[in-house]
Amino acid sequence: MRKISVIGVGYVGLVTAACFSDLGNTVIALDIDESRISGLKRGEMPIYEPGLEELVQRNMQAGRLSFTTSYKESLKDCEFIFICVGTPSGVDGEADLKYVESAARSIAESMHAPIIVINKSTVPVGTGDWVADLIRDAQPKPIDFQVVSCPEFLREGVAIADFMSPHRTVLGSTSLEAADKVAQLHLPLRSPIVITDLRTAEMIKYASNAFLATKISFINEIADICESLGADVKEVAAGMGFDPRIGKQFLDAGLGYGGSCFPKDVKALVYMAEEMGHEARILNSVMQVNGERRNILIERLRQLLGDLKGRRVGLLGLAFKANTDDMRDAPSIDIAEELLAAGAKVHAFDPVAMENAKKLLPKVEMAKDAYELAKGTDALLVVTEWNEFKNLDLERIRDSMQQPIILDGRNIYQPEQMNSLGFTYFGVGRGYNGQRKTKTEIKVRPNAA
Ligand code: NAD
Repeated sequence: MRKISVIGVGYVGLVTAACFSDLGNTVIALDIDESRISGLKRGEMPIYEPGLEELVQRNMQAGRLSFTTSYKESLKDCEFIFICVGTPSGVDGEADLKYVESAARSIAESMHAPIIVINKSTVPVGTGDWVADLIRDAQPKPIDFQVVSCPEFLREGVAIADFMSPHRTVLGSTSLEAADKVAQLHLPLRSPIVITDLRTAEMIKYASNAFLATKISFINEIADICESLGADVKEVAAGMGFDPRIGKQFLDAGLGYGGSCFPKDVKALVYMAEEMGHEARILNSVMQVNGERRNILIERLRQLLGDLKGRRVGLLGLAFKANTDDMRDAPSIDIAEELLAAGAKVHAFDPVAMENAKKLLPKVEMAKDAYELAKGTDALLVVTEWNEFKNLDLERIRDSMQQPIILDGRNIYQPEQMNSLGFTYFGVGRGYNGQRKTKTEIKVRPNAA
């Protein structure tokens, strides 16, 4: 059993704290946001993440997990301190390190015994060295410490499973001994552990996210080509994905990537490259392709309805992806704003993100469910791929709409089925929109090589 402190109780920090305490460690989690900490002390979650509430409450009751706003308290008898604060985009796309800087200073001012500082935030290459200098300079008296980079790869929506069964744990440090101690902490997770230097560990995180973003922009480009040529991108992606060199994941064509990580991390990597005199040609194209995705549904809507002034449009989903309430850089924001600017009346429903969305989109009318949303609309736009949208009573939806138009930005429905139900339906990159006379789905024969 070890004493661990976690700085920041957002999507990464709270999951880290809850999971490490569930593994039998004593964890104290700290945030500068007092309302988050007082809410957590009452058992209220500041974010939505499936399974998190139960995990937090169980470990609080077992006395292994507690919360504080005091750095002094969090550092008491603590061996490891994890920095999990935000690193948003700065003005030119660079990562803004103000929260990391302030956390590092607070650690320096409050530490009273040797400690290992582990950075889980996604930070530019070189930040680990900078944090070490910062702590050294800000310490009232010299106390030994080591800095380890341990970038986080969890995905919102499945964060607990990702944390508990990571594909790999990456550790970077100038001290092999410190990296080894952090590796011991991760042994119960039974993941491969990559131990490297600080800068390489920091780069692994950016390179991984940039590669995944590239895959998404790639399949979106293929989707546009499919649409023109009459091929179906869903089946193209399925056919490609059987090749283990390609893999099945991140080949979903649609509205492009959003959320709190990919957009800012690709931008930050481009910024880092350009600072060093490299033109990041592939990544600049990835961003350009992605930026254009958010308009595709509105362009289609204009083709179908002409002027959008006074039209009632419903957004099915608001979160940047399913199973989260995270609205950071969600495509729904740009789509809703563009529709509102065109004079449309915008309504929306999302199973968990509406509270967060109301603050960002005060002019969007929220519905209590998908059926209320559909009533009287000229079109429904599928923006988030929530499971509960996949099995709606589509006849009921169709009958309550002013016009049965569904534009599916996440390809959750089958064009043939939607057409036969009488919808005017468009997915993304679905060939001739279900008008093909041949098979409708890829079939794999057993034993086929
Ligand atoms: P978040 O915004 O959800 O949470 C950050 C928390 O840090 C907030 O509660 C904030 O109040 C707190 N904070 C800020 N400054 C502080 C300080 N000085 N002391 C104590 N607390 C402070 O952020 P997040 O989504 O958890 O992301 C954290 C980091 O992890 C980012 O660098 C992000 O890129 C990276 N990351 C995020 C994800 C993800 O899916 N969200 C996945 C992998 C990596």
